Amino acid sequence: MNRPLETRIGFSACPHDCPSTCALEVELVDGRTIGRVYGAKGNDYTAGVICAKVARYAERIHHPNRLFHPLRRKGEKGNADWRDASAWQRIGWDEALDIVTEGFLKAEAFHGAETVWPYHYAGTMGLVQRDGIHRLRHAKRYSRQFDTICTNPAWTGFAAGTGKLAGPDPREMAKSDLIVIWGTNAVATQVNVMTHAIRARKERGARIAVVDVYRNDTMKQADIAICLRPGTDAALACAVMHVCFRDGHADRDYLTRYTDCPEELEEHLESRTPEWAAAITGLSVEEIEAFAHAVGTTERTYFRLGYGFARSRNGAVSMHAVSSIAAVTGAWQYEGGGAFHTNGAIFHLDKSMIEGQDLIDPATRLLDQSRIGAILCGEPEVLFGGPPVTAMLIQNTNPVSVAPEQEKVKRGFARDDLFVCVHEQFMTETAAMADIVLPATMFLEHDDIYRGGGHQHILLGPKLVEPPGECRTNHQVFAGLADRFGLDHPGFRMSEREHIDWLLRHSGWGTLAELEAAKWIDCQPDFRTAHYLDGFAYPDGKFRFGPDWPNVDAPNNGPMGPWRTMPALPDYFSAIEEADARHPFRLATSPARSFLNSSFNETPSSRSKEGGRPEVLIHPDDAAAHGIADGAVVRLGNDRGIVTLHARHFDGVCRGVLVSEGIWPNAAFADGRGINTLTGSDPVAPHGGAAFHDNRVWIAPAETPG
Ligand code: SF4
Repeated sequence: MNRPLETRIGFSACPHDCPSTCALEVELVDGRTIGRVYGAKGNDYTAGVICAKVARYAERIHHPNRLFHPLRRKGEKGNADWRDASAWQRIGWDEALDIVTEGFLKAEAFHGAETVWPYHYAGTMGLVQRDGIHRLRHAKRYSRQFDTICTNPAWTGFAAGTGKLAGPDPREMAKSDLIVIWGTNAVATQVNVMTHAIRARKERGARIAVVDVYRNDTMKQADIAICLRPGTDAALACAVMHVCFRDGHADRDYLTRYTDCPEELEEHLESRTPEWAAAITGLSVEEIEAFAHAVGTTERTYFRLGYGFARSRNGAVSMHAVSSIAAVTGAWQYEGGGAFHTNGAIFHLDKSMIEGQDLIDPATRLLDQSRIGAILCGEPEVLFGGPPVTAMLIQNTNPVSVAPEQEKVKRGFARDDLFVCVHEQFMTETAAMADIVLPATMFLEHDDIYRGGGHQHILLGPKLVEPPGECRTNHQVFAGLADRFGLDHPGFRMSEREHIDWLLRHSGWGTLAELEAAKWIDCQPDFRTAHYLDGFAYPDGKFRFGPDWPNVDAPNNGPMGPWRTMPALPDYFSAIEEADARHPFRLATSPARSFLNSSFNETPSSRSKEGGRPEVLIHPDDAAAHGIADGAVVRLGNDRGIVTLHARHFDGVCRGVLVSEGIWPNAAFADGRGINTLTGSDPVAPHGGAAFHDNRVWIAPAETPG
């Protein structure tokens, strides 16, 4: 789209929880107003392309329902209408911060400091505004947060093989001959993957293979479409490796030089035939053979591995098995080949000042973010013998919509003895449960710095417009509370810009002034390093087919979930919540194209593009068998609860599989219970995580009792 010539353009970075972290060009209409947002053409990963929801960001930043002033709850918890004077009272910032200070001090005096749980996540991925909450946490010795809700199974599974989270330059997809997009709906969730993959198709005739659990928008663009049952990815991966060994496509020189136990693996895979995998995955033997042949005979095969397929109780094992394929074929050696998941390990950012890491007391407990429902309900096993959580500061996340096991989450937030302050941009369903609500800035209204997950850039996101009303940054809130608590740490006295400059200098990436001039830094390691040509990141330089699961990427909480039964070599791990007689369906809660977690579900255009209501996709034959008409209201249920929504017939899901896209607000469902009512919070082995796409459910027309 062409932009008016006279428009002033500001450079920024997308702050949302998306691996693309796009470099942006923002039309600046005046000091408070933006126009359209574009992908930065000069950034060679973004390459001028961004998703539609961020292109129309003016709708979100100038939304009339944004929070503009601090509020104190007057009425019952749960009223989301901040204009309702019977429910909310407008107060000043000083009064609001005084109340929060008093609430936290009162809780601490009664139960000790660990009763306060600052809770945050990825509503912004800016390092200053997202991670500064730790400085307050550590200074006060509040409970720490074990981040499990998004990345743990995927990161653990990938690092299990390679030893670190990095891989071949994602721009190399454009030089591949086969791009395998596995377990990520890139068209919806990281549009730039498609930019580079389609470039390879146009320029070199590359094929695009897509492996996923339904015919989503990405699979519709595939040359090779592999639609398998949820949680069965490792079975497919094992069969692919079996075929590669069987048909002479395993690179034995590479295996000897770069991997830990190739003979053991080959022997183990002898029984993992396409027939074996077909019975588990729901694929035909012919589909598996053809896919394996394509992978085995294409040196430049680039596996772009997403998070989606790892959000399963066997997710870490699946991620490891899939990444192992590139080690069997030796694809890592070639430009445009190898496996890539995320680039977390290449940036070596020193966040010690932002997070106040010098203040950490390792004796403070680490509460599992995904288990917030059980924690707020006081279940002893998740409190580690410590006090109940009776006070919270919540930033950049909306657990009353997005956390698993919603019935417990809601019961927890409804407690009268829980004091909650939420700092937010909108009156989310979590904010509606708070005692104090503080209005937060959006990314174009504050300074921050970002790093890619799906690419290799550090990007600056400077303040470009003034915030509306009395919105303040997260950083300002920490400073205000630190003052009141009498905390003395340089991180509270520094400005956001000073933090960015400190981070860059101490991480070896120059200065803020240099980044302002350059807009972004390309941190891509050299080819040999990125392709592990000098060895993988274990002391012996070998890719691990046999991971030491309890010690891979080990966070402080140690192994969790059923880690003792994890397979020693790549294999199908049957830890999933398999369908049974009472629950004949498997449900995946996949992302929607126009939402990002619960962000954007407040904008009318995104809601309308998502069809205006939550739906569940069901195969027409399954629908007929259960008496469900297209568009009918249905109930989905399991032991965790029941939700009511509309059914849509779709032959792009396997028989026995249901898919519900997007995190709609609970209020959008007929009975006020959102899709995460059905998802579980039991930890994924070996280091926790929420299995959002691994749920057994029953389905019935709404009038039928469950
Ligand atoms: S594709 Fe992802 S990073 Fe890029 S603009 Fe959209 S949400 Fe942001």
